[in-house]
Parts: sequence; C-alpha cells; structure tokens
Amino acid sequence: MATKCAHCGAVAHTRSSRMLSPVSQEEYFQCTNIACGHTFTAIREHRETLSPSATPNPQVRLPQASRAKLAAIRMAERLGEDRDQIPLELDS
Ligand SMILES: [Zn+2]
Repeated sequence: MATKCAHCGAVAHTRSSRMLSPVSQEEYFQCTNIACGHTFTAIREHRETLSPSATPNPQVRLPQASRAKLAAIRMAERLGEDRDQIPLELDS
C-alpha cells in the first residue's frame, strides 16, 4: 500500500504491517522523499459492507452501507469520480 506523507505530500510506502483483528491492521510507512524521511504508523480498518461476501466469516460483523451512500457511489462511478470524493455527510 501507499499513502501520502502528511508532512511533505510525497508518496509513503508500507514497509511492514501486522493484523490487529480480522478487520484492522497496523501499517508502518516510510516517506519516499529522502529530504523528509518521515516514518509513521497508520491503522487500516474495514468500515462497512457495500456488497455482502459470498463466503462470510461469522466472526466479522460490519455495518451495511446506507442506501444513500450506495446510490452516491454508483453515481460517482457513472461520473468517473474517485470514491474518496463522496461527501462524508452521506455516511449514516
Ligand atoms: Zn515526507
């Protein structure tokens, strides 16, 4: 995985990770900008189900996304927008 460094905006790559639970993991990142050199941790967590699994794990319980959020995702896909741009106020 990759993300942006919060300090300089350059790409930061995952150097290692460990599972905390079936739906969360801690990742250790390193910024690729050698002038920055920031290393940091982040938590990645599954938040909600958009479409249910065909092979569900009974230990995993995630809330189902609202109809409004699913409609917003479909609209964004039709418009070719990035899912990260979906307004957060649709989360409920
Ligand atoms: Zn950086």
